[in-house]
Amino acid sequence: LTQLYGPLNYLGTLYFAIQQSFVDMENMFDLFEVNAEIVDRSNAPEIVLSKGRVEFRDVIFQYMSEKVTLKGISFSVDPGQTIALVGPSGAGKSTIIRLLFRFYDIQSGQILIDGQDIKTVTQFSLRSHIGVVPQDTVLFNEDIQYNIRYGNPLQDDAAVVEAARHADIHERILTFPQRYQTKVGERGLKVSGGEKQRVAIARTILKSPEIILLDEATSSLDTQTERNIQNSLLDVCQGRTTIIVAHRLSTIIHADSILVLKEGSIVERGRHSDLLALGGVYSSMWAEQQRGLGEGEGGGDAADPP
Ligand code: ATP
Repeated sequence: LTQLYGPLNYLGTLYFAIQQSFVDMENMFDLFEVNAEIVDRSNAPEIVLSKGRVEFRDVIFQYMSEKVTLKGISFSVDPGQTIALVGPSGAGKSTIIRLLFRFYDIQSGQILIDGQDIKTVTQFSLRSHIGVVPQDTVLFNEDIQYNIRYGNPLQDDAAVVEAARHADIHERILTFPQRYQTKVGERGLKVSGGEKQRVAIARTILKSPEIILLDEATSSLDTQTERNIQNSLLDVCQGRTTIIVAHRLSTIIHADSILVLKEGSIVERGRHSDLLALGGVYSSMWAEQQRGLGEGEGGGDAADPP
């Protein structure tokens, strides 16, 4: 029995660590009011992922309020494809991402991943296949290695370094006083917004999920940082089903499909060039952002804070 206890205890700790990591993912996702009513059905099976096809079928959703937030949303993302959600503030973009992570259950319709309705499978298994790169990454008051390993507590040091390299932050970490052992976060070394985002990317690389949800930061970084981050993101999203909530349209011109949301409905959809040709909501948003880029220094790109 004693021989058994050791490994069991270890597994218990490990399970807790993994579960904790998802709880923190949720927090990082700015969803503090996690709905306790979302419970797994008894004997719910684990989701079985093949390639990560995502489908929303006539999804109607409202928060507690009377207002209907999503008014019958239908779209699908084929495995490995990138879809972008754009539109004015309050249109429902982040809600779509929250629903896919099953923070709330929908009132009607279906959300399917590889043909399985996400409300029929365990939340734990669902979330283990989805990586999130949030707007603002929270760094814990721990060392940088711990912060990256959060993506997958089972990975070893070599994998952490490999992920950091891919996220283009390894070289920077080597300049920190204690390298990977440097404490970061509020009570440690202050790192810039761009570096935090790269930590989030490294976490996602380590997690290696089939599906990636990306909530693009509203505050822009300096152009070079932005470009580096875009390259790392392209790298991590390559071959994975990706849903991006985009604020800067320039970052999604190559998306396989762009959904334009307005007041809870999809009002336009297509590729960048199709939508420009349509001369509707998207093309006015594009024109407005292009005008913004022409004005003032750097087109509103705020410098990366020190
Ligand atoms: P933004 O670009 O500003 O992030 P968005 O398109 O992502 O906007 P959502 O965050 O999805 O918009 O919000 C859609 C609507 O749902 C808004 O009217 C918002 O006020 C409402 N909403 C969002 N979260 C909640 C909540 N937890 N409870 C009640 N209403 C909410």
